[in-house]
Amino acid sequence: MAEPVYGTMQIKVLGGAGEYGRTSVLITNEKGRFLFDCGTNKSGATTEEQYPLLSEEIAASIDAVFISHSHEDHCSALGYLYALGYDGPVYCTNHTARQIPYYLENWRKNCEEKGYQLPYSRDDERKINIKELEGITGIIDFLDLGVKIQWGSSGHIYGAVWYILFLGGKKIFFSGDYHMESPLFSFLKPDVTNVDVAILDTAYGLDERDQQEYTSLLFNKINTTIKNDGSVFLPVPKYGRGQELLLLALNYFSRDILRPLIVVEASILLPLQNYIKDISWLKSGIATTISSALNEENIVVVTNQTEREKALKRDRPKLIFSPDGMLQSTVANAYLQELKDDSKNLILLTGYQSKHSLGQQLLEKNPYQVQIDVSRFKVHPGFRETRKIIGFVDPKTIIVMHNKKEENDQVAQFLKEQHQLKVFSLMSGDAIRI
Ligand SMILES: [Zn+2]
Ligand SMILES: [Zn+2]
Repeated sequence: MAEPVYGTMQIKVLGGAGEYGRTSVLITNEKGRFLFDCGTNKSGATTEEQYPLLSEEIAASIDAVFISHSHEDHCSALGYLYALGYDGPVYCTNHTARQIPYYLENWRKNCEEKGYQLPYSRDDERKINIKELEGITGIIDFLDLGVKIQWGSSGHIYGAVWYILFLGGKKIFFSGDYHMESPLFSFLKPDVTNVDVAILDTAYGLDERDQQEYTSLLFNKINTTIKNDGSVFLPVPKYGRGQELLLLALNYFSRDILRPLIVVEASILLPLQNYIKDISWLKSGIATTISSALNEENIVVVTNQTEREKALKRDRPKLIFSPDGMLQSTVANAYLQELKDDSKNLILLTGYQSKHSLGQQLLEKNPYQVQIDVSRFKVHPGFRETRKIIGFVDPKTIIVMHNKKEENDQVAQFLKEQHQLKVFSLMSGDAIRI
């Protein structure tokens, strides 16, 4: 029997290449058309800058959508996709499905506060047809299309996955946001090799530093402030980094008699109760640590402004955890107001700050007494992990994503020169054919 003849495949980046935000990648061949992630970009001010480069024609022609995780730069444009005429399924893990409504709402609120027109309605959001994937890994067959998709936990947040698409004799690896060094979430090594294309999160570029190095820098800053009788505020995203840092903080200060009072918003603590219901997504042994954290006496859990003020009046240095990571929420602003007039206090930003966020504004110009500082906590791969994942999937072609063009160019150049790999550092809107 003759070998089947396969046509070319097109991979078009609709968002998230050469920029941080609105990740979305469209893969097309004669068998079908598939969209990976559909996120928004907080740094954008217009529909063209905030959403993936979709059109009615593209939206109507997509067969299935796969979402890697719930962060808004990966899923918050789903309402827009349906508004443009998409009416098919959206695949994601059961845990991601639980988290998506929060990020859709968060994006909506953010736009309304800034006066941005939403190019979709609540009705469009209600049309989102989610099909849940169960388990940390699995494979499903689209029998009528002759297409398979495999997923595996990517270690970035609870329920986050990478995907491998088997399409027309080709294998495409889409890493989503991934991380091999989380103290909390497990990363599952993809067991498929010789992939045709690997679409990779390279958010930290050529940075080789590991999590341990960053964590010790971060906790030195926290500790110095606490020992000087100041309080530290850690604004964190609702899912992921917040729970990781909380567990690390409890461990760091566990034997310290001068330990700070830990003030944590319920929205950050409560996801931990869900995490221990399905521990397959966690690092082994961590469930015990979570259980003891949930019963920890040194934590004050806060749900409203009265409790917040009461907790902050306690005459001890505090370590505060609250959403969101860019200081955008009303709650984060409430803490800022309480801490802003004392130069002993510190607001410590641990992740990416978008162009118009309050976090970024304070970094550029801080009108208050409180200190503002940045200390990275890794939730994306550094360059060592980039090399590792390339070793796992052994790709013929690589597309680097989730970072500014200049840094993606550096990664691409290094991989080409040192490892003789075929690498594309694209801009959103660019496409390759294989
Ligand atoms: Zn993410
Ligand atoms: Zn992301």
